[in-house]
Amino acid sequence: MDNNAMAFEHHKELYFSDGNVALIAPSHKKHKDLSETLIVFRLHQLMLAIHSPVFKDMFTFPATPDVELYEGVPLVRMTDNASDLEAFLGVIYRQPVLSIAPLSPNTPLHVKPILVLADKYGVQYVRGPIIDQLERDWPQSLFDWDCLEAEIESRRDVFNQHQASCELDDDYPEPGSAIELARQCDIPSILPAAFYHLSRIPINYDWDNIHASWDDPPDDYWVGRSARWDRLSKEDLLCLLQGRAKLDKYLDELCSMLYPEPHTQDSTCNPDIWYAFWESVWQECRRGKDILAVLSPFSEMSGNFSKRWEKLCWSCRDKITTKASKCRKEIWDRIPEFFQLQQS
Ligand SMILES: [Zn+2]
Repeated sequence: MDNNAMAFEHHKELYFSDGNVALIAPSHKKHKDLSETLIVFRLHQLMLAIHSPVFKDMFTFPATPDVELYEGVPLVRMTDNASDLEAFLGVIYRQPVLSIAPLSPNTPLHVKPILVLADKYGVQYVRGPIIDQLERDWPQSLFDWDCLEAEIESRRDVFNQHQASCELDDDYPEPGSAIELARQCDIPSILPAAFYHLSRIPINYDWDNIHASWDDPPDDYWVGRSARWDRLSKEDLLCLLQGRAKLDKYLDELCSMLYPEPHTQDSTCNPDIWYAFWESVWQECRRGKDILAVLSPFSEMSGNFSKRWEKLCWSCRDKITTKASKCRKEIWDRIPEFFQLQQS
C-alpha cells in the first residue's frame, strides 16, 4: 500500500503490538507537510467482535489476497472521526468502567460520540448506563426536580454567604448540549426538564461567551446558569418560544383568580390583599421566569407565607396552598405539551 501521501500516527493507548487488526481513522490534525494525519488503532478482532455484531460480521468474511495490510495485520479504513472512535473504543476496552460525573455540564458532549458509534456498531449495553445518568441529571419527576433545585438553591446561598464567585455553571447540567444530544441520539425523556430549565435562562447568558471572556459576563450573571445557545436547532428555539408563551398564558390565568366570597370568619381579610398576593406572584414569575419556584413556598409541602400576607385568612391561605400544589403538578405534567415536545 502507498503510505506516502498520508501521515500515520499510532494511537497512544489503543495501539497493542499483539493486536491483529488495524483501524485507521482520519483526524483533524495535519502533518507538517500538510498531508492528512491518520490515527492507527491496533486492536484485537476477538475483543471487537465480542462487543459489536457489526465488527463480528466484518471479521467473519474470508481474507482475500488483495486485503490491505498495515504492519502485517489487516487494515480497516474507518469513516468515523479519530477522536469519536477513541471515545467509543475506550468504552469497549475499559468496559465496564464507564465513568460519567453526575450533573456535569459536559456530559452530553462527552457521551455523544460514544452513543452515536455504539448505535452504529450495535454495542447495545453502552446506552443503558449513559441514559440512566442523563435521566438523573435531568429529573424525571417533580419530586426529583424539587430535590435538585433545593440542592442548587442551598449551594447558591452558601456562595452568597461567603461572597464567593459562584460557578453553578460548572457544577450543574447545561441544557443546550443536552437538548442537542436528546434529539440526535433519541433520548426524549430528558427534554422536558432541559426545556423548562432553558426557559429560565436569558439569551445573553451564553455559555461560550461567558466562559471565553469571563471579564465581561452579564451584570446579574454571577449567581446564574448559562446555556450553549448555539447548540439549539431552529426547531428547538421555536419549541422554547412556544413553551415560554404557554407558561406566560398559564400564569396570567392563574393570577387572575377571583377573591373568594363570602368572608365571615376573619374581618382582616380583604380583596386588596388577595389581589396584591397574585400580583406579586405574577411579578416574581415575570422577573425570574420560573413559576415552579415562585409557587413552591405556597404549596402544600411548605405552606410558607411571609409576614406580608398574614392578613389573608386561613381559608384564603388554604385555597392558595391547594391551588399552588395543583398548578405545580399540572405545569410539570404539561411541559411536553407547552414546549411541543410530543409532535417534534
Ligand atoms: Zn380570606
